[in-house]
Amino acid sequence: MNKKVYAGIDLGGTTIKMGICSTDGAVIGETKHPTPKGPYQDVFRTFQQLLSDLLLQAGLSIHDVIGVGVGVPALLDVKKGYAFEIVNLGWRNVPIKFELERYLGVSCFVDNDANVAALGEMWQGAGRGAAHLICVTVGTGIGGGLILNGDIFHGAVGLAGEIGHLKVRPEIGRRCNCGNIGCLETEASATAIVFYGRTAVESGEATQLRQILDQSRGSLTARDVVDAAKNGDLVSIKIMERVSHYLGLALANLSNTLNPEKIVIGGGVSRAGSFFLNPIRDQFRTYALDQVARSVELLPAELGNTAGWLGAAWLVHRNLGEDGGN
Ligand SMILES: [Zn+2]
Repeated sequence: MNKKVYAGIDLGGTTIKMGICSTDGAVIGETKHPTPKGPYQDVFRTFQQLLSDLLLQAGLSIHDVIGVGVGVPALLDVKKGYAFEIVNLGWRNVPIKFELERYLGVSCFVDNDANVAALGEMWQGAGRGAAHLICVTVGTGIGGGLILNGDIFHGAVGLAGEIGHLKVRPEIGRRCNCGNIGCLETEASATAIVFYGRTAVESGEATQLRQILDQSRGSLTARDVVDAAKNGDLVSIKIMERVSHYLGLALANLSNTLNPEKIVIGGGVSRAGSFFLNPIRDQFRTYALDQVARSVELLPAELGNTAGWLGAAWLVHRNLGEDGGN
């Protein structure tokens, strides 16, 4: 029996998610652990420990691991596996691939977190079977990954797929972290949904959100707004219409350019399912070319927290294959 496996790691600012899978992508084991706050050596030692625990539980050893993929929250030189800066972790100029291979003793491959999540959905999730795929994650911000011809598209310096900075309200939108105005991220993320909700309450509009804010002592989540919209709250329905409009517009523009087979939408808000997705589909059809709209499926992400590490493991699959390149 071929028991060779791939390992994948999704390194987040607060949590490490790691797993091992068979060469056809079946999950063998997975785990998570808080990200150590300290130098990268501490994080790599944690990787070592987590991987050896996972292998032990599965009755495997490091000799069964073909390679390890890792997704990191940073802009990278992907080929060298070199991170210039990871703000969330306070890292600067870390040769991740080189160092990780020293710590783990197997070949390692690195890409950014949004890209590996897209690859995970392509390999084992909602994007299965698609060679041209757009993945977008609607969370605190809006992230994305572009898969063209069955592989991630990096662009000139690794910045391709920054879907969150598509302009949807360039004249009158709010200022984005990137310095520009009216980015999709400032107008349609979970953060934006909460902002619209609070603004409506503060400006005295009649809405169920006021009661939610009072009961929760001032905290409001995007999920609260989605639930209130489901519950018939007109202000919340308007907010969700507005957000769907921006998302549908941005995705239609992208699709008119790239003609994808699938668009996969993930992130916390997407858990609202068709209630969230159907209005985006409607708006999308308004702006997309007919043929483009007819040939694309717009789907909710399937893998949740597994997407990142599984997509990182796919990097090993792409680079070394099932026999480890032998
Ligand atoms: Zn921006």
